[in-house]
Amino acid sequence: MSSTDLSLLGIPGFVNLDYAATAPCLKAAADAVNELLPWYGSIHRGAGALSQRCTREYEQARQTIGDFVGARAEDHVIFTRNTTDALNLLAHCLPRGTTVITFGGEHHANLLPWHYPVRLPVPSSPGEAIRSLGQALAVNFQTDVLVSVTGASNVTGEIWPIAELAQIAHRHGARIAVDAAQLAPHVPIDLSALGIDYLALSGHKLYAPFGTGVLVGRSDWLDAAVPLTKGGGATARVGDATHDVRWATGPARHEAGTPNLLGAVALAKVCATLDAADRQALFDREQRLLARLREGLSEIAGLEELRMFGRDARRIGVVSFAVKGRDSAQIAEILGQKYQIGVRDGLFCAHPLARRLLGEASVRAGWEGVPATALRASIGLGTTEADVDALIHALAAELNAPH
Ligand code: PLP
Repeated sequence: MSSTDLSLLGIPGFVNLDYAATAPCLKAAADAVNELLPWYGSIHRGAGALSQRCTREYEQARQTIGDFVGARAEDHVIFTRNTTDALNLLAHCLPRGTTVITFGGEHHANLLPWHYPVRLPVPSSPGEAIRSLGQALAVNFQTDVLVSVTGASNVTGEIWPIAELAQIAHRHGARIAVDAAQLAPHVPIDLSALGIDYLALSGHKLYAPFGTGVLVGRSDWLDAAVPLTKGGGATARVGDATHDVRWATGPARHEAGTPNLLGAVALAKVCATLDAADRQALFDREQRLLARLREGLSEIAGLEELRMFGRDARRIGVVSFAVKGRDSAQIAEILGQKYQIGVRDGLFCAHPLARRLLGEASVRAGWEGVPATALRASIGLGTTEADVDALIHALAAELNAPH
């Protein structure tokens, strides 16, 4: 298999348009796991041959993933279970009292972990996001300040102006964290070039198996915090007295317990494979599919019955929409059972934004009621024109059908 083989595992005949929830696993990642399975040994646990080999693989994976996101030499790459875990770890490691500024359109993973949050209204454009953050930061908080924003919305797909937001944050002496759960699978990220202080991502949205994510970023706060998870591997020395413990510095401090080596190696394999691929060509291809999807959706039912969310914007392959008078869960179920098409329904773990968009869409369309939930189709490496067309045809057939 070449190093740029982007084949995915999947169910033959099933049209997966739910990449934003969990992307199918890259075959190369599954192969990397299988290759390592005979070497099952514990990491950082002595000089035995199995442990040595596994430790090497684990640390190499850390390096590869760090390179993939452009981590600075002095940054830590800490393995976590997923983005949620990574942002909760960051929240725990912030200096006491740190004010955390977010926007209301974030995923719950970036709304809920913070101890002293300031939530700015959902901005109506990237320009407004920049202005509104500038105004918010003009307040003298008299605490450390962290701005935490998504790289790309899981509801509208919109890509946020991270570099500009980072500049403003730094101008005001704040740091910035980026929730890259959705951005990383679609757009190359260079932490140091963009001026990002912390970044979180999930392997399962990035073509790796479940259970591995990372928190990448500046080491000082991470090395100063008492570990959130305490136990073996996170310590430099444990004494006889009850509280006599010296915590390790470096990523190990926040990786107590036996880590998920197979997940780390799989994620690293994805990162190396994507790094070797022509990502601009992949992005362009995705944009063509996205345009086809949006056009197809906008033609269905003459726009009367179906409303897409989000303004014209640079976006990843995510489209959310609502259907007049219809239960989104029921539509998702019909698409799955009758047409073997997978989409997501609900409020996408971004309740404030999804509710607001549902309300706005209903007003614009002049609908009487506001649908309780929405639908989302999302695309990625394995999506084809035929997949997109299958969804459009199925929706057209169902929405025109009597109900
Ligand atoms: N952030 C965004 C933008 C997401 O879309 C998601 C998942 O949908 C998350 C965070 C949380 O990811 P995970 O469930 O892998 O922790």
